[in-house]
Amino acid sequence: MRVPVIAGNWKMFKTSGEAAAFVRAFLPLVADVREVEIVLAPPFPWIAAVADLVKGSGVRVASQNVHFADDGAYTGEVSPRMLKDAGASHCIIGHSERRQYYAETDDSVNRKNKAALAAGLTPIFCLGETLAQREAGKTFDVVGTQLLEGLKDIPAKEATTVIVAYEPVWAIGTGKTATPEQAQDVHAFLRGRLKGLWGDASESVRILYGGSVKPDNIATLMAKKDIDGALVGGASLAADSFAKIVKFK
Ligand code: PEP
Repeated sequence: MRVPVIAGNWKMFKTSGEAAAFVRAFLPLVADVREVEIVLAPPFPWIAAVADLVKGSGVRVASQNVHFADDGAYTGEVSPRMLKDAGASHCIIGHSERRQYYAETDDSVNRKNKAALAAGLTPIFCLGETLAQREAGKTFDVVGTQLLEGLKDIPAKEATTVIVAYEPVWAIGTGKTATPEQAQDVHAFLRGRLKGLWGDASESVRILYGGSVKPDNIATLMAKKDIDGALVGGASLAADSFAKIVKFK
């Protein structure tokens, strides 16, 4: 069976002191949680400190972005092996905010997914349609293309590692959650596409839902067959609300 993943994306929030205070408050709240992969994605400067604070707890650390080169003249960027070195095990790739504001494309997302895997990092590979695309009936076309382009040239043996996050853009930070049925429809479609790509290995891929996940809607989302976890923005910023989401069972 697929182990659920609950990942918190802090985006550009929290000072070092606030990050440390979160971890100190959060760890005791989830100390008894078994069989959920818990991931925190702080801003770059706090990755090493957060990784240090969670050591021994089972909580993992992700970056919110990564460059595809090992190193080089790329001012302002951070490479996969630097993230590994800092203590990250996962990295969020292709978040819609990066696609929208930083010209991230399916091609750059694919390069980042490959570079992360080569460095031993687990990609949390994000995709999702805008409201205009959904209203135009293009959801499946859009997410199907993003999925296959993002995973181009990645072999089936990576199915146990790669995590896909379906995040409808219209549901991120808006308070509008996709209904569990809307999310399940897209997750089932993505699983079908993964089967075409990777065969039976597709059954191992965790597909997370993201978009205004809160303590009071996580359980109904998680009850759906193809929803294997959540990528959480706003509600991951407070230790108690994120712990409630982690303890969805
Ligand atoms: C996100 O940033 O990935 C996200 C899903 O944000 P929120 O939970 O705030 O909608």
